[in-house]
Amino acid sequence: MEQFRSILSAKEIPFLKACAFLLFLLIYLPVNGQILKKPIPDKTVVLTFDDGVASHYSNVAPLLKERGFGATFFVCEFPPNFIDSTKYMNWRQMQQLDRMGFEVANHTHNHAAVGKLSEEEIIREIAYIEDKCDSLGITAPISFAYPGYSMSETVLQTLDKKDYLLARAGGKRAYNPLEDHPYLIPSWATDSENEAETMKALSQAKDGQIVVLTIHGVPDMEHPWVNTPPEMFLRYLDYLSNNEYHVLSFEQLAVYIDFKKARNQLNIDLDKPLRN
Ligand SMILES: [Zn+2]
Repeated sequence: MEQFRSILSAKEIPFLKACAFLLFLLIYLPVNGQILKKPIPDKTVVLTFDDGVASHYSNVAPLLKERGFGATFFVCEFPPNFIDSTKYMNWRQMQQLDRMGFEVANHTHNHAAVGKLSEEEIIREIAYIEDKCDSLGITAPISFAYPGYSMSETVLQTLDKKDYLLARAGGKRAYNPLEDHPYLIPSWATDSENEAETMKALSQAKDGQIVVLTIHGVPDMEHPWVNTPPEMFLRYLDYLSNNEYHVLSFEQLAVYIDFKKARNQLNIDLDKPLRN
């Protein structure tokens, strides 16, 4: 006891307290479920391309590659003209996107309005793309995009069962990884009329917020209401490279965000704007 008292001399108590505090930090912080693995740099943008449009392979991918930009391609077999290779990519081209280092992700087999389907039907729609990727050696998809922003609690539960890391919605607002559930990641969609709105959106990529763009064909002949003219797309790319934006795929965001922890910790809020 005498010895013990002498160890805890008045001088040493502050030192021991400091040690205890450090130990607390070391043990507590890593298990406290930090959603952010590291701070998100300002000017972080995720580019996503929907529907497996032919111009994604012929126009978009080479332009992105040239600039070292990442991107996520949400592919499907868009009915009824998927087999028309002037309109849509074939699977060999989607495989090529994967080999070029882009993320190939799940947009369901038939661009299904999943919000209206049963769990069994949703699984069938999702599994088709997974099996296709598996058979072609494409990295297994971890990201999902709701076709036509169609969603339901059953869809969210199914994504959870299938262990998807994240899913993209709409909503025209920036993504805050500390607030938005990873199955309800908001985005802006581009079209031929909204260049000013898109540029304004890009300015919101700061203070921990990420801007996600939903882009269809560049150009999109089949769906002119979501057409992004190639010259407009080039202006976006030039703006992003001239202003030193970090242009990533969703997959690459995992450097900053622990999506599993975010999924466990954040609430699903279906009242926020989720459509474009
Ligand atoms: Zn779509």
